[in-house]
Amino acid sequence: MAQLWKGAPVAAALTEELSQRAQALVAKGITPTLAIVRVGERPEDLSYERGALKRCEKVGIAVRQYLLTAASSQTDLMEVIEEINRDDSIHGCLLFRPLPKHMDEAAICAALSPAKDVDGITAGSLAAVFSGSGAGYPPCTAQACLEILDHYGYELKGKRAVVVGRSLVIGKPVSMLLLGRHATVTICHTRTADLPAECRRADLLVAAAGKAGAVSAQCLASGQVVLDVGINVDEDGNLVGDVDFAAAENSVEAITPVPGGVGAVTTSVLARHVIEAAEKAIG
Ligand code: NAP
Repeated sequence: MAQLWKGAPVAAALTEELSQRAQALVAKGITPTLAIVRVGERPEDLSYERGALKRCEKVGIAVRQYLLTAASSQTDLMEVIEEINRDDSIHGCLLFRPLPKHMDEAAICAALSPAKDVDGITAGSLAAVFSGSGAGYPPCTAQACLEILDHYGYELKGKRAVVVGRSLVIGKPVSMLLLGRHATVTICHTRTADLPAECRRADLLVAAAGKAGAVSAQCLASGQVVLDVGINVDEDGNLVGDVDFAAAENSVEAITPVPGGVGAVTTSVLARHVIEAAEKAIG
């Protein structure tokens, strides 16, 4: 039976450390503050927002919400981003994406001050992830994968990692973070010729496809560690990952559950980035 690598203990350990750092900032007269920018009311954004609000409250981070309707214009959103950039009392910004189709997402992301880019959406932050320079903040979900591996004592050096998904939000940045820790990384996608064969060779399998069942029983092998990043709703309305969980439970070494796995750690990483940004702001 596979070990369940839950996110809650990882998040709890991070929260305790972050609360102390938040208190130290408050003692210096700084309230670490996150701006949340949401356009429209997509259920997945609302769900992540609830988690982020709860986590920030636990840590001691103030949140300012900027809520725009889905019909808002590019100019409306740009004005909000510029206001956040100008406001020295805001240390980080979380912008929910994808933005509505009538908006130029690349231009909006590029407008955010790199110092406040706590979710790795600007080209500069992503370049830092790819160069391994350590400047900027990696996308929170990608970093959450590393936090889980570290918490459960998984040594990455020399391991064969296979990542399913190549988005700029998860697949590519998590691949670069794993490479930076000396794993040998293969990135798979919808045009991969034989996904099961690629996946079966993995010591560490990271599923970030956004499709229930994309990582089937044929992709799994004994001894594997599986991080299931996917968040999908199945035909019965249940939240499920990308991995055939029933098959994984009986074959792999360890797997993160959905819900309660990677997602539970992502908001803690976000909180840590806000604290770091506030610490940097006071020098
Ligand atoms: P995305 O932009 O849709 O990218 C999905 C990637 O997976 C694409 O590269 C796609 O390949 C690949 N893919 C899709 N179906 C596949 C299949 N059957 N076989 C192989 N590759 C496949 O999604 P995303 O933004 O990266 O998000 C991925 C998942 O993570 C979603 O379920 C999302 O809800 C979840 N998520 C979780 C968290 C968290 O905190 N746990 C946070 C954010 C998102 P192509 O490039 O060839 O199209």
